[in-house]
Amino acid sequence: MDMSTPDKKMKLVMVGNGMAGVRALEELLKLAPDMYDVTVFGAEPHPNYNRILLSPVLAGEQTVDDIVLNPLDWYSENNITLHVGKKVVKIDRNSREVETTDGMRVGYDRLCWRPVPIPSFCRFRVRTCPASSASAISLTSMRWSRRPASISMQW
Ligand SMILES: Cc1cc2nc3c(=O)[nH]c(=O)nc-3n(C[C@H](O)[C@H](O)[C@H](O)COP(=O)(O)OP(=O)(O)OC[C@H]3O[C@@H](n4cnc5c(N)ncnc54)[C@H](O)[C@@H]3O)c2cc1C
Repeated sequence: MDMSTPDKKMKLVMVGNGMAGVRALEELLKLAPDMYDVTVFGAEPHPNYNRILLSPVLAGEQTVDDIVLNPLDWYSENNITLHVGKKVVKIDRNSREVETTDGMRVGYDRLCWRPVPIPSFCRFRVRTCPASSASAISLTSMRWSRRPASISMQW
């Protein structure tokens, strides 16, 4: 990958504001801090938190604030536009836009799809669709595809 700063930043949209996705963003920012205008969509109303510690929160031993990994300041300090409480329900591959339940549409040059934990032996069928397939893909119609794959980046 060419790490030099491009004249115009590309738009990177990440769907899923969870542990793995945000960790990948942290690495990307180290490698190429000026390459992308980053927008993150998270269905939950929180910044990225440590899901592994969810049980103590549910048991009332800790609060969500206690287990936050990347506070809201981290997103603003890294010029990341964060939309919490916004679930992406559609990817339009022709116009290169994602759409949320409330009709918000945001364009992308690069899409990082990380809304759920994905076992290493699975990937979403959307990655196997030929370019000529339907332009708008409803995420609710996706099925697991048992082909070997390990990453969920869609370029
Ligand atoms: C109680 C518990 C204990 C665990 N313990 C361990 C452990 O000990 N060791 C270990 O390795 N792993 C453990 N895990 C698993 C680990 O938490 C996950 O592997 C990890 O969180 C995966 O990160 P992720 O970013 O892929 O997904 P997640 O962290 O699940 O994040 C996905 C995010 O995407 C959001 N989202 C979903 N759909 C959409 C959409 N359409 N639009 C926008 N946002 C969306 C979700 O709200 C969520 O915030 C545990 C999980 C739980 C729940």
